Amino acid sequence: MKIDILTLFPEMFTGVLGSSILKKAEEKEAVSYSVENFRRFSKNKHHAVDDYPYGGGAGMVLQPQPIFDAVSHLTEKTDTKPRIILLCPQGERFVQRKAEELAREKHLIFICGHYEGYDERIREHLATDEISIGDYVLTGGELGAMVVIDSVVRLLPGVLGNENSPIHDSFSTGLLEHPHYTRPADFRGMKVPDVLLSGNHAKIAEWRKEQSLKRTRERRPDLLE
Ligand code: SAM
Repeated sequence: MKIDILTLFPEMFTGVLGSSILKKAEEKEAVSYSVENFRRFSKNKHHAVDDYPYGGGAGMVLQPQPIFDAVSHLTEKTDTKPRIILLCPQGERFVQRKAEELAREKHLIFICGHYEGYDERIREHLATDEISIGDYVLTGGELGAMVVIDSVVRLLPGVLGNENSPIHDSFSTGLLEHPHYTRPADFRGMKVPDVLLSGNHAKIAEWRKEQSLKRTRERRPDLLE
């Protein structure tokens, strides 16, 4: 998978893309990242990318020209049709199913907004998807893009390895995952459930399934509906 990120703050991505699983995924050649400051595509002599809103009002609006030109630059040499994802509090709420859908693509382009947001023509005529990471407003789309990229890249084949397969994770199964315990079996009087120490794999699987259902019923009954 190729992931392009268009942002006014490329430095924000250094730590996230250069650490842990996201870094290893690139080393394993499951993904390649490219972070581009779309200011460099501005045709304005001061490299401005925003302007006052027509009709007046507070805040600045991202202009269409630099973002349209940046996307053309990224797509002109590729045959694959990329998903062009606008991070936006008004977009569809991001969920695991969407991460699974995006993980099947070859090329993703993320556009990170700022200020009051984007000129409407970017949404209408350029974006293929508009994603919100939740019902709150961030200062920019960078954190949202990182959330989406992290959840997608960990699903790419070979990235987590069999031992950490994501298929049992919360939401992938439709339920919340069962509780986990590790050594010691008795920590300051707090004991690990006997069944997990029994060595009986059928009983353990049954217990995990029950716990998963119980948790989902208690915490997220909407998932069962
Ligand atoms: N004026 C916009 C509105 O009320 O819908 C909010 C603009 S916000 C201050 C600036 C940028 O942050 C947005 O263009 C978007 O890229 C990003 N952003 C803010 N909240 C977000 C969210 N919940 N999910 C994804 N991106 C978000």
